[in-house]
Amino acid sequence: MMSSCSNIKPPQSNIDLNYLGTQKTQWRDTINRDFTKKDQKDTVILFGGMTILQDRLVMAALEAKKEKYVALPNPDFESFRTGKAYGNRGQCNPTYFTVGNLVKYLQNIQKETGMSSEEIVQKYAYVTANGCGPCRFGMYITEYRKALTDAGFEGFRVFSFEHNKITNEDGSESELNLSPALYITPIKAVLIGDIINILSHKIRPYEVEKGATDKAIEKCYDIVSDALKNNKNLLFALWKCRKELAKVKLDRLQIKPKVMIVGEFWAAMTEGDGNYNLHRFLEAEGAESIPQPIINRLMLSIWESTYFFNKELDIEDEAKTNYFDFSSTKRRIITKLLEVTIKSYFTLYAKTIGLHDYTLPDIEALSKLSRVYFPLDAEGGEGHMEVAHLLESIHHNIAHLVISVKPFGCMPSSAVSDGIQSLVTSHYPSANFLSIETSGEGAANFYSRVQMALFKAKQSAKEEFEALETPEHIPEKVHNYLYQPKNEKAGTAAQLLYSLNM
Ligand code: SF4
Repeated sequence: MMSSCSNIKPPQSNIDLNYLGTQKTQWRDTINRDFTKKDQKDTVILFGGMTILQDRLVMAALEAKKEKYVALPNPDFESFRTGKAYGNRGQCNPTYFTVGNLVKYLQNIQKETGMSSEEIVQKYAYVTANGCGPCRFGMYITEYRKALTDAGFEGFRVFSFEHNKITNEDGSESELNLSPALYITPIKAVLIGDIINILSHKIRPYEVEKGATDKAIEKCYDIVSDALKNNKNLLFALWKCRKELAKVKLDRLQIKPKVMIVGEFWAAMTEGDGNYNLHRFLEAEGAESIPQPIINRLMLSIWESTYFFNKELDIEDEAKTNYFDFSSTKRRIITKLLEVTIKSYFTLYAKTIGLHDYTLPDIEALSKLSRVYFPLDAEGGEGHMEVAHLLESIHHNIAHLVISVKPFGCMPSSAVSDGIQSLVTSHYPSANFLSIETSGEGAANFYSRVQMALFKAKQSAKEEFEALETPEHIPEKVHNYLYQPKNEKAGTAAQLLYSLNM
């Protein structure tokens, strides 16, 4: 069986580095896991790392559970610089942004309140996702602890969702509640956040009055967060949001290129300095973007868990397949149920608020599409998904441009996926694909490369639209966001016109 990273025990003694000529010892991760009943009352749990709307909605969902969770602000360049100052050298830049964001937040509290480091360590803790790698994601928690220690917050508690059974240093069970039951409403909040984010990217580029979409989205946040905090009906809340969004006046026959954003998950999703505000930049340049929602990552994680589990079983004992294995069957059923439940909630919420044309990714189909190019056993980052998304866009004419965003120093995205993408683009020379690195510096270079790729995308969108006949009468429904015809055209204006000609 494959080993879990939680089973790996660190060496007990410090390594002597005196051979380097200086009196140094290897840095060791000291873990403070204590979280007692008293802490439960007094401690503020910090979290973050999703889109701004999702962090806020999750905070509202946890408030309903009487849990004291606070979402960190969106990471910015100052977070990045703080991460670089206190983090290890040679990390990928989401590490610097996210780790630095936490340190910066604590330092600001210190400045504003005059609290001592010890008081902050006592009063706050941080919860984050974690993994076993194989990329640097497996080191995130250690990076947090290292940077916090060097910034003067030694002993600051960092927990991971992965370890939902946490024990204190003395072996007693921790009072920190990370049980699966706690996640249900926050996961619903994440799904709703995904749906509202997707809609905002479909609506905002076509708004007649600048800022109207953001105002409507803010109203949706108020409605949904009120429902989450007060255990009200979420479907009713989403129906109210539908009415708010329908009030935004649109001109959807403007020709705009559609840009699919893929790449390393955090870099593609974040909405700020972490990707030079790519989504807003594309809109300002006259494009419509297709974002990567968090549910896509969830679906990939579920697919990976089944894929690697099946492989382990094959390797472990081929003879086992000849008789009924209860635990494997149970695991398969639970995984399938989880997938079906998440997809059902997403579809129900999407239909209620009026997102009709969004198809959740079929990871199995995408894996079949990409496995000619990408070895499916290669884990890390988004695995085969970056290549699969490009192929999907080419085969199904989804976008005029595919941008793959990769953080500086990202092994799976830069070294593996990009190497393979050059083979894909050599087989499909007409594909408009841009791979771009976000180093946390060099915005001018980043923007100018995006603008160059957009030039070609704008031409394609224009040609696609102008090849269609414009009917004499354009019905009002084309300017309503609820009208979402799906057809072989990529651009929104071309899709609408094509649907009228059918
Ligand atoms: S996928 Fe890349 S950027 Fe993300 S944690 Fe792994 S190495 Fe870092």
